[in-house]
Amino acid sequence: MITLKNIVKEYDGKQEGSKAVDGLDLEIKKGEFVALLGPSGCGKTTTLMMLAGLLKPTSGEIYFGDRLVNHVEPKDRNIGMVFQSYALYPHMSVRENIAFPLRERKMPKKEAYERAREISKVVQIDHLLDRRPTQLSGGQQQRVAMARALAKNPEILLLDEPMSNLDARLKLDVRDEIRKIQRNLGVTTIIVTHDQEEALAISDRVAILNGGKIQQYAPPNELFTQPINLFVASFLGNPPMNLVDGVVEEKSGNQVVVTNGFEYSLPESRKLDREHIGKQVQFGIRPHDISITTGEDPRGIRVKVDLIEHLGSGKLVKAIDSEEKLESMIRLLADNETPVRSGETIFIRFRDDKFHLFDKTAGGLNL
Ligand code: ATP
Repeated sequence: MITLKNIVKEYDGKQEGSKAVDGLDLEIKKGEFVALLGPSGCGKTTTLMMLAGLLKPTSGEIYFGDRLVNHVEPKDRNIGMVFQSYALYPHMSVRENIAFPLRERKMPKKEAYERAREISKVVQIDHLLDRRPTQLSGGQQQRVAMARALAKNPEILLLDEPMSNLDARLKLDVRDEIRKIQRNLGVTTIIVTHDQEEALAISDRVAILNGGKIQQYAPPNELFTQPINLFVASFLGNPPMNLVDGVVEEKSGNQVVVTNGFEYSLPESRKLDREHIGKQVQFGIRPHDISITTGEDPRGIRVKVDLIEHLGSGKLVKAIDSEEKLESMIRLLADNETPVRSGETIFIRFRDDKFHLFDKTAGGLNL
């Protein structure tokens, strides 16, 4: 449905070599919901604006189906767009706002208003058609913006941080709502967000961007469990993945990751090729993949509980290795029933197979 081929975008006046988008390839299937996710300045909005036709790529090709659209005007692209600010016209009623893009296309008033009524039902604001945007709550304004974007029956819906002005609770409702509407209408949708929870919850696939480049493009679960590199691994997850510097060594036939605080023997199923022996790595393990024993555990790693944060659903435990040689604390999750107290010594184990090893000499590639 949508193909981006080797897209580069350099803004005028920027220093040479600094590309907002740098060789981006992306394919989006018909009806798919895709999120562009990444830290501030990674090129998400620039990419969305190029899809909308509001910006032209410096080089590369954008196809909708097999039609090259690089030079097609925004109004001829058959897209609907919802901006972070909603950009509703304050002097118009909700009905007029929704009908506006249709009226622009010279649709007769009666027909445009009928279509506005129809689509307002889909987003459940048909009782608000006579109001002005200023007389609506944030969530209602958001729905009006959605209705306006969908009025033309676009093939593609582009959403730029559409929920960032909503409070946390409402965000969850609106998120479900957007997903439902998208599924019902089958419209191919691309959302830009810096909220990873939102991106993972709502999308079929997520493209993680950094420095104008795609780091990984995969379904949410795969990104989380099989991050391709250190950037993706450390960007996703809250609380974040634990990362500890280490070296891969061979000890009496076993492969062992030796760190300043512990040694971890790799299970047979995860043995590395011999070329990796001696390599500098980062050992990564997510907080929920660490188990705790409060009693003596000869096979566990002895640590001291430094801080406990109550999360409601459980506790986040921050522990330091008993000899205090690790550069950072180890974060782990415990359920509310586990009796841990700060200052106490506990034993931890990493759940088999759940660890990651990132090659420090190869840009943090997951081995
Ligand atoms: P955010 O989440 O902060 O909105 P983003 O991922 O959407 O960030 P972009 O807005 O696409 O990032 O910006 C990518 C890079 O391009 C940034 O380094 C930014 O400073 C630069 N940039 C964006 N717009 C312009 C512009 N009009 N002129 C020059 N540089 C720009």
